[in-house]
Amino acid sequence: MLTVAEARTKILAAATPAVANMQVPLQQAHGRILAADVLAPIQVPPCDNSAMDGYAVRVADLLAGPLPVAGAIYAGAAPGELLVGTAQRIFTGAPLPAGADAVVIQEDVQRNGDTIALLDGAKVVAGDNIRRAGEDIRVGEQVLVAGRRLQAADIGLLASLGIAAVAVRSPLRVGLLCTGDELLEPGDPPQPGRIYNSNRYLLVAMLGSLGCEVVDAGIVGDDLAATCTALQQLAQGVDVLVSTGGVSVGDADVVKQAVESLGGLDVWKIAVKPGKPLAFGHVCGKPFFGLPGNPVSAFVTLLLFVQPFLQRAQGGDVRDPVCVPVKAGFAWPKAGKREEYLRVTLQREGEALVAIRLPNQGSGVLSSVARADALLRVPVGTTFVLGDVVECLLLP
Ligand code: AMP
Ligand code: MG
Repeated sequence: MLTVAEARTKILAAATPAVANMQVPLQQAHGRILAADVLAPIQVPPCDNSAMDGYAVRVADLLAGPLPVAGAIYAGAAPGELLVGTAQRIFTGAPLPAGADAVVIQEDVQRNGDTIALLDGAKVVAGDNIRRAGEDIRVGEQVLVAGRRLQAADIGLLASLGIAAVAVRSPLRVGLLCTGDELLEPGDPPQPGRIYNSNRYLLVAMLGSLGCEVVDAGIVGDDLAATCTALQQLAQGVDVLVSTGGVSVGDADVVKQAVESLGGLDVWKIAVKPGKPLAFGHVCGKPFFGLPGNPVSAFVTLLLFVQPFLQRAQGGDVRDPVCVPVKAGFAWPKAGKREEYLRVTLQREGEALVAIRLPNQGSGVLSSVARADALLRVPVGTTFVLGDVVECLLLP
């Protein structure tokens, strides 16, 4: 049996960026992986401008006495120079006129007809309420690094630089096959002894949020020949294969055999709970992950092993769930032989964040994944008592 770390190393070593680049308009770039560094073609803000609604002034002039207001500058305007001994009305985002060295906010002046005077007690110093050209981004500055998954703020940032399209990685095509004679599709009427296929929907959602294009092959029964045929066909049109169920050693577990006959297994048993029987290998030349059938096991193994593989195979950075130290809200007296991932909620108690164990940790209990804020990682051979500091992986 491999440890979690050994299995990850082995799996990640097999991940080589397998996709081409494509240019997409900004509106389609959210969630995609940036293929090239982005350098700023312009400075942001492009010119000195006002951070407030008020008056553009020369501080020395205003301190000397009331000033006539000579016109107004709105956002989008191209103002002339501020004449000595005058003020100009200015609004947020409007370019600062040459010669002005501060914007005094409108609340700090008394306006009488066309003149303003600084209110008693109000202060103004040079530089007040001015957003300087380039204070956010300088020309040529590296703003985003290749490999980054583009977030909403990144898209806004690119737009602020006048960039209309970016080079991203093409989505990785992931083939998905669910195995099991017992599976029904949501929408089918319930039948005795059968269960609904939750993995298919769980995994389509998880793979989609990783930026992959899912090729969904539906369900295959627990039959070796049918499983071989389904995997072979699916392998043709995809970059990576993922299946669920049928990887244990029961009589109906045919996936392992199918993979051995169509390719080979590199990793099989991993000392992880939930998720021990995870098959990683290749089928018809394509990387293959055989996830366990239990939905919680499928969820955890996807997060720990498949996600980093897919991120790297897509040419992106490997980004594991954020890991935070928290206080244990329960004791763990019995050391385990497998690295365990417990579903917990996180609650604030004073300054500390406390992990509360969800009651049912069965590997078929998907409701506790839905309720969990995090997975508490218990390393092999570890115990802890109430209040000890433990590690939690935050769930999205
Ligand atoms: P297996 O790994 O095929 O032995 O399945 C382990 C458990 O997970 C069994 O209780 C199966 O009924 C259940 N299971 C397998 N596949 C799915 C699926 N796609 N959706 C929900 N439960 C499943
Ligand atoms: Mg099965």
